[in-house]
Amino acid sequence: MIEAAHITKWYGPTLAVDDLSFSIPKGKIVGFLGPNGAGKSTTLRILTGYLPPTAGTATVAGHNVTKAAESARAAVGYMPENNPLYLEMRVEEFLQFRAKLFRLDKKTTSERIDTVCDRCGLSQLRRRVIGHLSKGNRQRVGLAQALLHNPKVLILDEPTAGLDPIQIVEIRKFLEELRNDHAILLSSHILAEIEKVADRIMIIRKGKMIADGTVDDLRGKAKGGSRVTVETQAEPSAVKSKLEKVAGVARVETSSAAGWCRAEITPKGEGDVREKVLAAVTAESWPTRGVGQRQVSLEDYYMQVFREMDEAEHKKEAKAT
Ligand code: ADP
Repeated sequence: MIEAAHITKWYGPTLAVDDLSFSIPKGKIVGFLGPNGAGKSTTLRILTGYLPPTAGTATVAGHNVTKAAESARAAVGYMPENNPLYLEMRVEEFLQFRAKLFRLDKKTTSERIDTVCDRCGLSQLRRRVIGHLSKGNRQRVGLAQALLHNPKVLILDEPTAGLDPIQIVEIRKFLEELRNDHAILLSSHILAEIEKVADRIMIIRKGKMIADGTVDDLRGKAKGGSRVTVETQAEPSAVKSKLEKVAGVARVETSSAAGWCRAEITPKGEGDVREKVLAAVTAESWPTRGVGQRQVSLEDYYMQVFREMDEAEHKKEAKAT
């Protein structure tokens, strides 16, 4: 449903998207991740036919986004970054305005507005001025306009930005309902959220794809087995240097709160280092409250891959100077 082949975008001298290729079939929700400035919004704008690529081709629901930009736009439901809306308009008025842009006839417009208001929980808010709505309700209006023309492809740029946890869960449930007969590509900064909803994750860095796989694939690529945690009452720097010397420990990260130092330990392999970690902190007579273990998360993989790439780049730069 979404096909991108070698798409590249230069803004003057800035290379924003660098030779990206991917394919997203119907029935899949794909999470699009990367740091600020990585090129996510640019990619999404290209796929929605709003921005021509400098090179490469993309099709959405069979429409070429460059040669048939208008029909591509008609095939896609798009919620842009920051969800721009006409704040002075009433919800219904805004949806009617959007329906005109999609050239929906009167009957279809009326039916579709009823449907999307119902699906997006806006039925009671149709007469409300958008500027007076809460952030969560404005996001619903953004989703409603994206779904208005019944598109098979949905492209959502940070749909949960600024929402509270309850609203985020609502959006997740909503996307899950839409999954079956849509292809959905969404960008987000909230890794824990994407991990729950996406069938597949694509990660970009400086315009280039650096990872593409299922959440389990990517978790599997995170180094070491389950992460081990321990909380002790000691100086974080002392805890870090002590635990880094424990056999089988690859990395230790510390944080502190309310007088307790929390150490998060990445083991070198699959072996269980809990006993050795506990032995090390008790040997120092540091008060300790429990050693725990947790599954590797998408965030672990994400942090690891960016740390490794940043370190490799710094080394290269240091060598060059
Ligand atoms: P992301 O969505 O991942 O934060 P963007 O696609 O917005 O990334 O930006 C990618 C790169 O392109 C950044 O370096 C950004 O500064 C640059 N960029 C984005 N939009 C423009 C523009 N309209 N003109 C010039 N440079 C831009």
